[in-house]
Amino acid sequence: MNQILIEAKDLKMYFPIKKGVIKRTAGYIKAVDGISLKVYEGESLGIVGESGSGKSTLGRMLMSLQNPTDGDVYFHGERISHLSNRKVRPYRRDMQMVFQDPYASLNPRMSIGELLEEPLLVHKTVKTKAERKQKAEDLLEKVGLSKQSYNKYPHEFSGGQRQRIGIARALSTNPRLIVGDEPVSALDVSIQSQVLNLMKDLQEEFKLTYIFIAHDLSVVKHISDRVAVMYLGKIVEIARKEDLYEAPLHPYTQALISAVPSTDVTIQKEKIALKGELPSPANPPRGCAFHTRCPHVHDRCRTEQPQLVEYKEDHMVACHLYTEPEVRMD
Ligand code: SF4
Repeated sequence: MNQILIEAKDLKMYFPIKKGVIKRTAGYIKAVDGISLKVYEGESLGIVGESGSGKSTLGRMLMSLQNPTDGDVYFHGERISHLSNRKVRPYRRDMQMVFQDPYASLNPRMSIGELLEEPLLVHKTVKTKAERKQKAEDLLEKVGLSKQSYNKYPHEFSGGQRQRIGIARALSTNPRLIVGDEPVSALDVSIQSQVLNLMKDLQEEFKLTYIFIAHDLSVVKHISDRVAVMYLGKIVEIARKEDLYEAPLHPYTQALISAVPSTDVTIQKEKIALKGELPSPANPPRGCAFHTRCPHVHDRCRTEQPQLVEYKEDHMVACHLYTEPEVRMD
């Protein structure tokens, strides 16, 4: 097993709900509610969940772009949460983010050369103007764009090309970790696989670690070694990709997997329909937060919150079906 690169310990992010003229705190939105996880050097961890599951907030806390309400993040054994901006800056060079919207994430008034050189100036990694230009041109070629792109502006590129520029910008500081927050969701399906393939190749070449956030299990399947499934601020299942896709344990994961289109036309999968909408994180159901939509709900689920426990090696699940031998499904 490789070394742990980044670790979250009991991470929480509670946003206060303010009400009335005096803005008193009337409750909390528990966007992330007690998440612990480890990401190993060189691996790709996919984090999947519906909109409102807390996955992007988790990503921002892991990157130290947002301080948690409680809990800690460690990067290579060093605590990076709750630090001042000045103290966290040296770690930022090692952690970069690729955002969902390649249209919004690039300043339209900056040339591609300026966009790629900006992080080099901020982190003072390359000294001279000539070296910065050389590095920017090399990065453009690494992501499959021509050196001539250096003098152009974002509006001159397609969505897929802009996301390549976003990836080149993320690579410019020679990071060890890249967090992709829905990096291909805004792209056409045909372009998605090109960008995913590029990211996979770059991972190998630059020995990168990825955290790949998506709302869709079919997107992370290609790129992840392990996948964590989130529901209302908690991880409900985490496993190696093969185990999660072939033998999902949690009823929520089973429903998500059943919705992934199969590439094998001979396989007829029965789609598991989920009842209702995702409940509000401001008022999550008691007991198991999934119980209002779960096809296997039983009495215990309505009162007792299931803990994330190891079901077998490298496969953890939070569901009472796997802690009550008399109702186990296998
Ligand atoms: Fe369903 Fe109960 Fe398991 Fe929650 S704990 S997922 S409600 S069976």
